[in-house]
Amino acid sequence: MISGTVLSKGRKINKKIYIIGAGLSGLSAAIKLSENNSNCIILEATDHAGGRCRSFNDNLLKTKIDNGNHVILGGNHNTFEYLKRVGTNHNSLTGFSKYNFVDLKTLEFWKLEPKHLYLPFLLFNSQNRIPGSSIDDYFSILKLPFLNLNQTLGTIVNQDSVFSNRFWEPICTAVLNTTPSQASAKLLWQVLKETLIRGKDSSKLYVINDGLTDTFIQPAINYLFRKGIKIAYGSRLTKISFSGDKARTLHLRDRNILLNPDDKIILTLPPIEISRLLPNNAVPEKTNPIVNIHFKLQTDNPLPHKNIFLGITNGVSQWVFYKNEVLSVTVSDAINLVDQDPEIIARRTWEELLPLLNYPNSKLPKFRVIKERNATIAQTPAQENKRPDCLTVWKNIFLAGDWTNTGLPSTIEGAIKSGITAANMLQKRESKN
Ligand SMILES: Cc1cc2nc3c(=O)[nH]c(=O)nc-3n(C[C@H](O)[C@H](O)[C@H](O)COP(=O)(O)OP(=O)(O)OC[C@H]3O[C@@H](n4cnc5c(N)ncnc54)[C@H](O)[C@@H]3O)c2cc1C
Repeated sequence: MISGTVLSKGRKINKKIYIIGAGLSGLSAAIKLSENNSNCIILEATDHAGGRCRSFNDNLLKTKIDNGNHVILGGNHNTFEYLKRVGTNHNSLTGFSKYNFVDLKTLEFWKLEPKHLYLPFLLFNSQNRIPGSSIDDYFSILKLPFLNLNQTLGTIVNQDSVFSNRFWEPICTAVLNTTPSQASAKLLWQVLKETLIRGKDSSKLYVINDGLTDTFIQPAINYLFRKGIKIAYGSRLTKISFSGDKARTLHLRDRNILLNPDDKIILTLPPIEISRLLPNNAVPEKTNPIVNIHFKLQTDNPLPHKNIFLGITNGVSQWVFYKNEVLSVTVSDAINLVDQDPEIIARRTWEELLPLLNYPNSKLPKFRVIKERNATIAQTPAQENKRPDCLTVWKNIFLAGDWTNTGLPSTIEGAIKSGITAANMLQKRESKN
């Protein structure tokens, strides 16, 4: 047993903050706490930081790939603030004001220009609308803020319409990782009002040029290191013992940490871990998968017009990205795909994309299929109602994580916001005592 009391620069400090989990929410909490020179440590179960947002060297493709393609939107203010704070290079992201799409059935190309949503008079010109849609379709967006907490997007969407197929389906599935018929309308509205319908800067879609780790994770680790906050890898929290209304001991796989009365804990773990560690805390239990298929090409960008990302409708593939000789396909809400054999998944997506590509042969390139089975919580009204607040019944335990009650979907923005909220709540409680 080791005590939570530590020596820092020869001084005995009795107040320590244990952040459990080095995903974006844990890193964000630590960054916020570092502003006040808090005495923090991050305990991470694995041998790397980043959680569901990370890159790794793939020995088959012989290149660095991300666990899944991630995009962010201009309105993700907490995310941009985080990137600025940790000093991520400006050139790490490329922003797009138009989102290009192709319909795999008809090979018709079109673009979604968010400016038509925040300057709605432009929609009276049919050239500015998604082909096959009417102006009434766009007005259905205005019904969204009036739906209640228990309603799904399916309430206002005619699923047989072209507009559903070309707007609601791709946007909702990408943002909420949940199909429109089940997705929380309120949550989608929360995102649209901060992004697509807010204005030029807020609606820009940003792709990550390098890797997720180089952009979001390593700069944060370096920043925290400079602030004296370290990450202890291989430190899986297996159990918490309590005394009165406080946690008393953190049980790690290979050691225990006896907490001092003023020590605090921020748990930034997936919901399944929280239900195990804090049994009486209700959490969302349903998750949805995302599957990414990375193809290693020996050629330059084969996508039409050398797009570096393209939305796809009427296929298994939903978004396709190109960077550094890797073509990557994303399938969100991949419930029907996730249990299939990786080779079948790769062959199916490769063959459906081939007619689009400027590629010399049809042979299946080397591929890596990454199945994130618990990519996000299912963002349905029922699961939404189970997202807990940051405060718990335990006086020294705070919750963060993209699945907590942030008012946002399970995204980078939600994760970063949750970490900031936990740090703020913790400091507020400390200032009261
Ligand atoms: C394939 C995929 C694509 C995505 N695409 C997008 C996108 O385009 N845009 C977007 O904004 N978001 C996207 N997301 C969501 C985004 O990645 C997450 O919202 C975010 O990374 C969640 O961060 P987190 O810190 O809340 O959780 P996590 O990343 O899950 O972090 C939790 C950490 O806790 C650690 N841990 C778990 N158990 C223990 C334990 N017992 N003890 C100690 N440590 C433990 C884990 O190893 C992990 O490091 C995507 C997610 C996936 C999987």
